[in-house]
Formats: sequence, structure tokens, C-alpha cells
Amino acid sequence: MIEIATAANMVEAQLLADELRSGGIEVFVSGGYLSGAIGELPADTLLRLYINNEMHRDRATAMVHAFEMARKQDLPRSWCRTCEEWIDGQFGHCWQCGASMPDTHSPD
Ligand SMILES: [Zn+2]
Repeated sequence: MIEIATAANMVEAQLLADELRSGGIEVFVSGGYLSGAIGELPADTLLRLYINNEMHRDRATAMVHAFEMARKQDLPRSWCRTCEEWIDGQFGHCWQCGASMPDTHSPD
């Protein structure tokens, strides 16, 4: 197994894993099933993402880097009116309920 990324929470780990899987890369998340539901993990628990195919390492690393750069940008967040959840600006849909995000962003 090749560690390619760490994530601060299960949501981030899942988003990143989905991104990699959408690129055809098999990815495994460790540490994400210790305490059940999303949001219950302690804030300082790091989840680790692994791949097991060395041929995917360069592409996976690049995708992780792009993902992390997007996370660091101070993008406005959207308010999901369907499930009343804040969604980071780089996502086109709600991570919680899957609703499409409106174009209207909050001022913060
Ligand atoms: Zn939602």
C-alpha cells in the first residue's frame, strides 16, 4: 500500500477518494471507520488514503495536489437550502444530500 494523502476528516477523505476513483484509481481510506458517522471523529484524527498500484502514484499525487490547492483557496461557501448545510465553494453539489448548488453564494 502506498500512502498518498492524509485528510482531516471523513468528509474530506471521502471527497478525495471519490475524486481519485472518478479518475480510475483504486483508493483505500484508513481510520475512517473507528467511530461511526461523519462528524463524530475527533478534530485531530488524521485519515490516510492509500493506493496499491504503483503505476497510479504520479497521477494520484497530482490529483491530491490539485484537490488540496482547491481546498486552500478562499472560495465562498454555499448554503444548501435542502439540508441546511454549508458547502465549500469548489463543490458543485451538496456533499450531504447531493442537491445542486445555486449560483448565489453567501457574502462570507
Ligand atoms: Zn444538501
